[in-house]
Amino acid sequence: MNIILLGAPGAGKGTQASKIAEKYNLLHISTGDIFRANIKGGTPIGKVAKSYIDAGKLVPDEVTCDIVKDRLSKDDIQNGYMLDGFPRNVFQATELDKFAKIDLCVNIDVDLNLLQDRICGRRVCACGESYHVSTLNGATTCAKCGGELYQRADDNAETVKARLDTYQNQTAPLIEYYSKQGKLINIVCGTKTPNEVFELIAAELDKY
Ligand code: AMP
Repeated sequence: MNIILLGAPGAGKGTQASKIAEKYNLLHISTGDIFRANIKGGTPIGKVAKSYIDAGKLVPDEVTCDIVKDRLSKDDIQNGYMLDGFPRNVFQATELDKFAKIDLCVNIDVDLNLLQDRICGRRVCACGESYHVSTLNGATTCAKCGGELYQRADDNAETVKARLDTYQNQTAPLIEYYSKQGKLINIVCGTKTPNEVFELIAAELDKY
């Protein structure tokens, strides 16, 4: 099973991605994580990506599509994979259709008005866990692994606004794109907890 995880920044894609990957034994491929690792490593890709990420814009399609195409050419994808953060626009989706067979697209549907606060208060751990400052009670380390929590460089008010605009203008049209292909699973989150959202996703994926 090859799936795409779709959703606005801060919708909880990272949290759900870890749970889905574990339960269904899928390889988790996050383009955002790949870019961040490249930035940390000071690679040429990282240098290109940083200016776009800091501005809340999409990294150019050519760079991003090449990275994903290369990743999907490896042998370890045989048991299935989950793309988290790719595609981000219709061009990337049409390119993906040329080199991959996607079975389902899970859209995490959240109220966009809640996201600014959610993202600006987000603290993350290198292990993949993420928290909100309002529930940390001053803690600075990860409850799961003890790692130091930090704020992503692009989780600041100005960049977040640009990222949400980018989402609405470029990424949201993918909901219709995958709906037309009959592959869309829309998960309406409302006020549900991450575990409740995961139960809804799992109930749908189990049918497949
Ligand atoms: P994420 O971790 O998915 O929120 O991604 C962080 C940032 O990486 C985004 O705001 C974009 O600047 C960049 N990025 C991640 N995935 C893509 C993609 N598929 N296309 C272009 N830029 C991307």
